[in-house]
Amino acid sequence: MTTVRFQSLEGEAQSFVVARDISRRLEAERQLKLVAAAFRGAGEAMMLCDSDFVILDVNQAYTRLIGCERDDAIGTLPLFLEVEQQESHLRQGLQTEGRWRGDLLQRRMDGHMFVSRAAVSEVEDPEGGDPNLVVNFEDISQLRDYERKVDYLSYHDLLTGLPNHDALKDWFQSADIPGEAGAIPNRALAVMNVDRLKTVNNAFGHAVGDKLIEELARRLRKMCGRDDYVARLLGDDFVMVVGDVTDAEEAIDIIRQRLQSLTAPLQLDQAPVHPTVCVGIALSPEHGINLEELLRKADMAKYEAKRHGRGEVVVFSPEMTEEMEFRLLIERRLRSGLDNQEFLLHYQPSVTLSNNRVIGLEALLRWHSPELGMVGPDRFIPVAEENGMIIELGAWVFEEVCRQIAEWRDEGVPFGCIAVNFSPIQFQDSGLLEAIRTSMQRHGVQGCEIRVEITESVLVIDPDWTVQLLKSLREMGILISVDDFGTGYSSLAYLKKFPVDFVKLDKSFVGGLPHDKSDANIAASVIDLGQRLGLGIVAEGVERKNQLEFLKNAGCPEGQGYYFSRPMDVENTARLLKNHTELPVSRPDDECSEAESGE
Ligand code: C2E
Ligand code: MG
Ligand code: MG
Repeated sequence: MTTVRFQSLEGEAQSFVVARDISRRLEAERQLKLVAAAFRGAGEAMMLCDSDFVILDVNQAYTRLIGCERDDAIGTLPLFLEVEQQESHLRQGLQTEGRWRGDLLQRRMDGHMFVSRAAVSEVEDPEGGDPNLVVNFEDISQLRDYERKVDYLSYHDLLTGLPNHDALKDWFQSADIPGEAGAIPNRALAVMNVDRLKTVNNAFGHAVGDKLIEELARRLRKMCGRDDYVARLLGDDFVMVVGDVTDAEEAIDIIRQRLQSLTAPLQLDQAPVHPTVCVGIALSPEHGINLEELLRKADMAKYEAKRHGRGEVVVFSPEMTEEMEFRLLIERRLRSGLDNQEFLLHYQPSVTLSNNRVIGLEALLRWHSPELGMVGPDRFIPVAEENGMIIELGAWVFEEVCRQIAEWRDEGVPFGCIAVNFSPIQFQDSGLLEAIRTSMQRHGVQGCEIRVEITESVLVIDPDWTVQLLKSLREMGILISVDDFGTGYSSLAYLKKFPVDFVKLDKSFVGGLPHDKSDANIAASVIDLGQRLGLGIVAEGVERKNQLEFLKNAGCPEGQGYYFSRPMDVENTARLLKNHTELPVSRPDDECSEAESGE
C-alpha cells in the first residue's frame, strides 16, 4: 500500500491510499526461490546453459560430482563436449525434438572418466532470446558394471566361466552364416560328459568334483582353435564345436586326440585322479544344421557312449533315434508294468565247484511287457535307476523273493539261499532296511536264506552310510556279495573296510579262460585275493568245461553260469532243485544251449 498524506483545500488532513494486490508477485517470488532451492539441492547434477552451452549456473550435486567450484564452472563449457561427436548428437536431438536423452561420457576435474545418464531440454528464455538449456545427469558407472555382470552371468557358466547354452546359441547363429558359395560349413559338435562325476562328488565331496570340472574347463579352453567353440551346458555336459570336419572318422580322430590332453591325470586334494570323458558327436550339415537338433543328436550319441563304458567316443547314427524312442517307451511303460504285475523273477543256480552241488540261486528280474515283449534287466534297470522307480521295483523283487522262499520252504524245495541284486540307488534310500525287515518278517524268512548282491560303486557312494547299512544286514544274518568284481574300482581298501562275505568274479574275465593270458591272470589274482582276505569267491558266467577246470585249479570255491544252468522260471527251477542236487544235469557238449529255459 502507498499512502500519501495531503491537506485539502479546506485545510483538512487527508490521505491518498493506493493498494495493489501483490499476491501473485509474492507467489512468483516464492516459486522462484523454490525452484532455485530445488535446483541447488537436487540429487542429480544439473547445469543451466545458454543456447551455446555456456554454463550459466550449476548445482551442488554437479560441483560434487565433477569436483569443481560453482564460480569456476560458470562461464565455461561443459566438459562432456570435449568427447568427440557427443555435441553433434546432442544438437541433433535438440533440433528435432527440443530435448535429448542418452548416455554421456564425462570427465571429472581429476581426469577420471565416467558414464552418465543425461537429459538435455530447452527452456524458454524469459527475455525472448534463444532458448536456454537445462542439463541433468547422474553417474551410472556402477549400474553399468552391474549390467555388465548380469550380462556376463547370463552368458556364462558360473563355475567355469565358460560360455553357456545361450552364448553357444548366439555364437552358432552368428557363425552359421553360409560361406560365399552358400554352403553351410562342415562342423562337428561334440557333447562331453565326465564319467562317474557323481561318484567323485560322493566320495570326495562336491568341492573336489567342482575342482575337477574347473580343471577340465581350463584344458578345454586351452585346446580351442580359432574356428572352435567350447561351452558348458546344464547337467554337467561340455560342448565342443570343431570347425572344418568333413566326416565321422575325422571327427573321432580329432576328438580322441584332444581327449588325450583333456583327460591327463591330475591331483585333486592330494589324490591322483584319472578323469575319463564320454563323447557323443553330431556332424553338421549331415545330421542337421540347427543347433538344438545337433545337440539332441550328439546327446543321443553320448548316451550310447555311456552305455559302452568309460572314455568312449560315439558318432550319432539314425538308429540311435529308435533306441532313444525305445528308452522313452520303456520309461512310460514301467509304471503300468509294475501296476499290472508284468514283472517276474527267474532263478539261476550257483554251484560248489568241488562237488557240483547247488548251494543257492540268484534271483534275476524279467519284464514281460504286452507291448514290448520280454525286456531284459540290462534294458530297463538303467531307466528305472534314472527315474527313481528302481526303489519300488527293488522292493517288489525283495518281497517276491521272500514270498518264494516261504513257498518253497513249505513245499520242501531245497533252494539253499537266494541272492538278490540291489542297485546303488536303492542303497541311498533311507527306507531300504525297514523294507527288507518288513518283507522278511511277513514271510518268516531267515537272514541265512538271503544273500545281498551289490556292485562296487555302492561302496564308493557315501561309504559311512553304506558300512552302517551292510552291518545292519549282517546282524540280521544276511551275507553280502560284491557283484561284477573287477569291472569297477576293485579297490582292496574297500574290501577291507566293508563287511562283505563274497566276491563275484565278473563274467568278462571268465569268458577268456583258460587261454587269454590277462583274463587268466586277473581271475587267478581275484581268487587268490579272496582266499587271503577270507572271502568266498563266485565265478560268474561259466559256460565251458575248460573254464570250470581252470577255476577249480585256481581254487575258486563257487561258480554260476550257463554251463551249470541257465536262469529259469519258477516252475523249472523248482523241478530242477527237487530232482537234481548236482549240476549240470546233462553235459551240453561243452557248449551251452540257446535259450533260457522257460523263457
Ligand atoms: P548280474 O547280477 O551280474 O547277473 C548275472 C547276469 O549274467 C544275468 O543276466 C545272467 O542271466 C547272466 N548270465 C548268467 N550266466 C551266464 C553265462 O554263463 N554267460 C553269460 N554270458 N551270461 C550269464 P541278466 O539276467 O540279464 O541280468 C543282468 C544284470 O541285471 C544283472 O547282472 C544285474 O546286475 C541286473 N539285475 C537283474 N535282476 C536284478 C534285480 O532284481 N535288481 C537289480 N537291481 N538288478 C538286477
Ligand atoms: Mg548279480
Ligand atoms: Mg554279475
